Amino acid sequence: MPKYVYDFTEGNKDLKDLLGGKGANLAEMTNLGLPVPPGFTITTDACRRFLEDGRLPDGLEEEIAAHLAALEGQMGRRLGQADDPLLVSVRSGAKFSMPGMMETVLNIGLNDESVHGLVKQAGGNERFAWDSYRRLIQMFGKTVQGIDGELFDEALEELKNGRDDLKLEAADFQRLVETYKGIVREQTGQDFPADPHQQMRMAVMAVFESWNAPRATLYRRQERIPADLGTAVNVCSMVFGNCGMDSGTGVAFTRDPGSGHQGVYGDYLQNAQGEDVVAGIRNTMPLQELERIDKPVYDELMKIMETLENHYRDLCDIEFTVERGKLWMLQTRVGKRTAGAAFRIAVQLVDQGLIDLDEAVTRVNGAQLAQLMFPRFAGDAESARITKGMNASPGAAVGKAVFSSERAVELAAQGEAVILVRRETNPDDLAGMIAARGVLTSRGGKTSHAAVVARGMGKTCVCGAEELEVSTKERRFTAPGGIVVSEGDVISIDGSSGAVYLGEVPVVPSPVVEYFEGATDQDDELVRAVDRIMTHADASRRLRVRANADNAEDAARARRFGAEGIGLCRTEHMFLGDRRQLVEDLVLATSDAEREQALAALEPLQKADFTEIFQAMAGLPVTIRLIDPPLHEFLPDYTELSVKVALAGDDADDKDLRVLAAVKRLHEQNPMLGLRGVRLGLVIPGLFAMQVRAIAEAAKAVEGARAEIMIPLVGAVQELEHVRDEARRILAEAGVEALVGTMIEVPRAALTAGQIAEAAEFFSFGTNDLTQMTWGFSRDDVEASFFSKYLELGVFGVSPFESLDRDGVGRLVRIAAEEGRRTRPDLKLGICGEHGGDPDSVHFCHRAGLDYVSCSPFRIPVARLEAGRAALVSEGSDTR
Ligand code: PEP
Ligand code: MG
Repeated sequence: MPKYVYDFTEGNKDLKDLLGGKGANLAEMTNLGLPVPPGFTITTDACRRFLEDGRLPDGLEEEIAAHLAALEGQMGRRLGQADDPLLVSVRSGAKFSMPGMMETVLNIGLNDESVHGLVKQAGGNERFAWDSYRRLIQMFGKTVQGIDGELFDEALEELKNGRDDLKLEAADFQRLVETYKGIVREQTGQDFPADPHQQMRMAVMAVFESWNAPRATLYRRQERIPADLGTAVNVCSMVFGNCGMDSGTGVAFTRDPGSGHQGVYGDYLQNAQGEDVVAGIRNTMPLQELERIDKPVYDELMKIMETLENHYRDLCDIEFTVERGKLWMLQTRVGKRTAGAAFRIAVQLVDQGLIDLDEAVTRVNGAQLAQLMFPRFAGDAESARITKGMNASPGAAVGKAVFSSERAVELAAQGEAVILVRRETNPDDLAGMIAARGVLTSRGGKTSHAAVVARGMGKTCVCGAEELEVSTKERRFTAPGGIVVSEGDVISIDGSSGAVYLGEVPVVPSPVVEYFEGATDQDDELVRAVDRIMTHADASRRLRVRANADNAEDAARARRFGAEGIGLCRTEHMFLGDRRQLVEDLVLATSDAEREQALAALEPLQKADFTEIFQAMAGLPVTIRLIDPPLHEFLPDYTELSVKVALAGDDADDKDLRVLAAVKRLHEQNPMLGLRGVRLGLVIPGLFAMQVRAIAEAAKAVEGARAEIMIPLVGAVQELEHVRDEARRILAEAGVEALVGTMIEVPRAALTAGQIAEAAEFFSFGTNDLTQMTWGFSRDDVEASFFSKYLELGVFGVSPFESLDRDGVGRLVRIAAEEGRRTRPDLKLGICGEHGGDPDSVHFCHRAGLDYVSCSPFRIPVARLEAGRAALVSEGSDTR
């Protein structure tokens, strides 16, 4: 039988798959000798079994009982013992942190008898004991029994009647317990369970079930966390931060998660339990004040933070509780940080000698780099500033203010940019946070729910803007000076400075983009950090990075961004605009002479296009793909033209009639599977030849031009042979050397790659079409039509058009790479579908042995970084 329960002394930080992040790190801290309240972890394996079978797995309850007995022995108290109770917390903890998304229940073991035992334990502190008891019923009722939390909150608010919660007395809480018990009875038809073992059993199951709660599912989808991991459950002996003013609870970072600088960053709340800090019930005090309140505890905490940072060799965030002057560590983990801090911290740790540059490169990722490439607000907007909050998650966001998650989702679906404004967010706001461009709250610090979740998502967030009075009901907020912002009014928020502006503030480019553009500002600490990491990533990577670019401007920018050539120049884009008429002439040609005339008119234009691109990329390879899309795309819309001709009747223009006939003739039910790519080249004589001639002539004219000619949509070697033979002939006539290769974007091409490689000097995987045809998904339609359902059902965790489907499309890529190289060992392999700039897919390409990835110019730095990371991380490790 598998082992389902691990004591904190049995685990370690590397067992996250089994014990979840929280459990693994509690074990690690226990083994480091830090003050962790004793407890045990129920594995993710048990959770998966439970979710599959709908019941606790065999043997689990016995195992829990044995570990509980050991814990009781160690603590010298039994769970819920009437005169001296052991109380426990039951907390979720998955492999990847999902802040606030799953459940926690504290104070398990309390009932009408043991509450008196707790009074005794706490030296006669009645207030504390009854407060703890009401918290149990509240949390249990909400999370385990599914009662609407508002009911409890309202009862508490009524009792407070405008008073601070510190003003409430024992008798108030005792009364609240009765009220809460009444709510439970009314809502569930049953009494609150008094049996401590039943409480624990139900709480464990509720935590397991919370893995599949809608908000957890949504969060996983957003963060690309696999749906089948399950959560572990941590059962931990309770320590209390709510025993009086010599107690309290706090959260802290070992360095600033916004800038990376070392120092004391955290919040502390006296006489409170953990949840209070995050929920923002009272405003917290800065952690520095703990030094004044309790110097020995503060000093011990500082020492522990140093130990943790040196041990984990990274920024850690922690949760702790002080129980009557004794410090307890409740959680640590490698902390989330802003994108800029990730780069700065990685380099700072190198300078401190804690990690080397190889590791520094793996400590950052392409998503963070992409975030740093967002624009920022112009510096001269001060006059529009209405207030300032905390800079919780960077970026510049502009949008209409909305005051509920539902409204955010609604307006975003209509294409509006919105900023979600709340007093504070809670996990139910997740959908709105995803939909919004940015999040603004008036309460809560940098560790509040809004801040943590927004940072995790890379979403701009300003929190704790305390000068704002937010009224959700009236859908508006007021700012100092009597400024009122109602739903729909545009505001701008700066997540890097915390500033909130009225109206739309203009944005300026990011210094990181300017650095990539070549304007190196080595005074900027962030730019210096990015420079060091990128230099090392470039030195470490095996994959080359090319650009998808079809004009000189994009090519030049791509080159500045570090592109080492062009992997895909789509020539059909050159046939649009003014040249439409020429293409129309080509399509309408009814004789060889007419067609040749049309081609002859296009050829010099094409030559000029290619010349500019070769110039921009001189010395580097440029892969030019011969024209791909269906011809009717160049003709007018069938319905419009039919109406025009019908209305004109007998007076219809002769040209219109001819065009209409052509549109009819060329119309296809499935154009994506129709007359495109190589098929077009074989059907329209002279079209590909014209393009190859233009390439050859342009290459001859530009010093250092390195042309590669690529044939699209090939499915059989015979198709390729025809085009290749003609291309070779034209190149030989022009005296130009160029590789001739093919795209692999039809499944048959992948499956017959051994044959196709006989005729191809390179392969470039067109994973857009390859995904479309492997799955049978129309790339133009499915993402908008049913992908959200597929994501919800977990058919895949992320759209296969966004991130390469390793099992299916990836398998075809591997087969083609292997079989192609078997035929032609020096076959050059690349990828030019959208996946070439997707971090996970870049790692796949590295492992599949490709030579290069090609992506849009703006994603080139991301691809360079991820290619470096791919070379430095070990096989099988997480790439996030
Ligand atoms: C592809 O199919 O992946 C590709 C790069 O070609 P296009 O997107 O132009 O069809
Ligand atoms: Mg394609």
